[in-house]
Amino acid sequence: MNDEKKINIRRLKTARDMGKFMADYYYELDEASKSGKQKIAWCTSVGPAEILRGMGFLTYFPETHSAMLGTTRMAVDLIPKANAMGYSPEICSYLTADIGAFVEGVSPLSRAFKGIEGVPKPDVLVFNTNQCRDVQDWFAWYGEKFNVPVVGVHTYRGVKDVTPSHITSIARQMENIVEPLEEVAGRKLDMDEFKHAVGLSRECSDLWEKCLAAAAAKPSPLSFFDATTLMGPAVVGRGTQRAIDSYNLLLEELEERVAEGIGTIDDEKHRIYWDGMPVWGRLSMHSKLFAALNANVIASTYCSSWIFSALDANDPFNSMARAYTELFIVRSDEYKEQYIKDKLDLFNIDGVVYHDAKTCPNNSNCRYGMPQRLEDETHIPSLTINGDLNDLRLLSDEQTKTNVEAFIEQLEENK
Ligand code: SF4
Repeated sequence: MNDEKKINIRRLKTARDMGKFMADYYYELDEASKSGKQKIAWCTSVGPAEILRGMGFLTYFPETHSAMLGTTRMAVDLIPKANAMGYSPEICSYLTADIGAFVEGVSPLSRAFKGIEGVPKPDVLVFNTNQCRDVQDWFAWYGEKFNVPVVGVHTYRGVKDVTPSHITSIARQMENIVEPLEEVAGRKLDMDEFKHAVGLSRECSDLWEKCLAAAAAKPSPLSFFDATTLMGPAVVGRGTQRAIDSYNLLLEELEERVAEGIGTIDDEKHRIYWDGMPVWGRLSMHSKLFAALNANVIASTYCSSWIFSALDANDPFNSMARAYTELFIVRSDEYKEQYIKDKLDLFNIDGVVYHDAKTCPNNSNCRYGMPQRLEDETHIPSLTINGDLNDLRLLSDEQTKTNVEAFIEQLEENK
């Protein structure tokens, strides 16, 4: 790579609106936490947020806090604190960084948002193990710490076809968490509010899907690295009108870019698909590394995780059960391979990068021969990067750079 080369990455104007959205979100939580005027539920990132909205809870998602610990690179010093308490360096570094931050009494929220001292205090913690078991252990730790209830949905993993029996089981579990949640909320689940939240979530999901699909244009107006932060409202704001408003603005800007042929990088020669988690502490470095090689990482399995197309306000429990089970992370390799093949076609991809995140086997899909099988079928080359979402001690920047450069050279030769 020529280090002297000028790298021009075009940021989206609406990124600022997304930043404001997140600031408002955290200030609202902080105010509720301090005043005690509104109950707060902590929820996993693909947990049953709509039920919580139907009971008037404000909803906080600790994974976004952990991602901030990653982007600020605070995580590296905090993970060992949780390791010392018996949480292995091999398990989710979101969990270890977050618990480490709590015991140390630090938070990136207080650096980013004046007046916020730390995470909001939960009244209840709500998980869904659809993504992994780690979230259950993570929430159990906080449940004990704050002496508040922890309720959850135990779901299936490695699902090939989502069947009626999957849906029935998960929908019943979702119904069963209502009563303990009502006790904490001090009020009943309002079916109209609940259905409304499901409808808003669906609208948010549809808009987010359209934003991500805009990357199919050549050149792509959106990169994976931008999408990892633009997805904030889809994670923390689904079920609210504000998230919908944000994505309407983003979609408008993306459509403008497509109409005018404006790409996120200059001279897009190689279109890359990213599978797995981002390396939060290296977003900027990785985005520049690829851009300098005229490679645009345009789509990912990760950012599509907040598309819930099955949500239906007229059938809230069953449709939530389906939406939260149809997710990529929940599915079998057979399903995942077909899913990725479809995306390679849709986005006209030249190469695939798999991130083997050491502490998240759940979001690493390269460990059981998938890259080789997909390469054999599609003849699209792939590269596996060893790293981690938050623990920067588990990656080598030099190795990543060398491997990416060699990979793009290979794509160049193939053209
Ligand atoms: S899916 Fe991975 S990164 Fe997310 S909470 Fe589970 S182990 Fe951690």
